[in-house]
Amino acid sequence: MSIAENLAQVNASIRSAEAAAGRSSESVRLLAVSKFHPLESVIEAIEAGQRFFGENRVQEAFSKFSELLSRGYDFDLHIIGTLQRNKVRDAVKIASCIESVDRIVVLEEIERQCAKISKNIDVLLEVHTGEETKAGFTDSAELERAISLCAQKTYPHITLTGLMTMAPNTDNEEEIRRSFRIIRGLRDTFSEKYAISLPELSMGMSGDYPLAIAEGATIVRIGSAIFGARQ
Ligand SMILES: *Cc1c(COP(=O)(O)O)cnc(C)c1O
Repeated sequence: MSIAENLAQVNASIRSAEAAAGRSSESVRLLAVSKFHPLESVIEAIEAGQRFFGENRVQEAFSKFSELLSRGYDFDLHIIGTLQRNKVRDAVKIASCIESVDRIVVLEEIERQCAKISKNIDVLLEVHTGEETKAGFTDSAELERAISLCAQKTYPHITLTGLMTMAPNTDNEEEIRRSFRIIRGLRDTFSEKYAISLPELSMGMSGDYPLAIAEGATIVRIGSAIFGARQ
């Protein structure tokens, strides 16, 4: 199937998962994850009406999406991979949101780089809930500290808008749902405690997004179901 057909199918199944969960239509946004796929594939998706993209690696994101900018394409890019501090400068130039912030030093660096170019940026804090990699905050006290710093407006160029996670790679639905419930619970608890609105829950990938939508996802990050297998 073509990228356009895959997009249509994924969009239809997002709409039906929203309806099944009693959620309003278009309460979930599809982030098309184009990592490891060539520029031509991204253009195909844009021409099929997609403009919201996710990339894992800053260098790849920067070269692909700078080229798209120079060709006049319109898009909204989120960075979803673990960020080294020395990559923050390029990341904030090209993206509207960094979803994978997992250390306070990264928040500090994002603030520093955004201040330099007078740019405001959204961030999500990534929470480790069971995925095999080490990505994400593992210590809830540290996560809480990051949220409270953002709530106190410590970083004037950063708007914290929610949380992100990757569920474990398993067929066990209960285990997957548990991971989504953890970040929803943390979001509910901390947004109330620090009086900060945290509307976004970025969770769900090609293999588990209907479950994520049932558990409250507002962004689903989908790569292979749109672009095919990665090399
Ligand atoms: C690659 C990736 C995705 C998309 O994964 P698929 O299984 O291809 O849909 C989502 N989130 C993150 C953080 C990723 O690295």
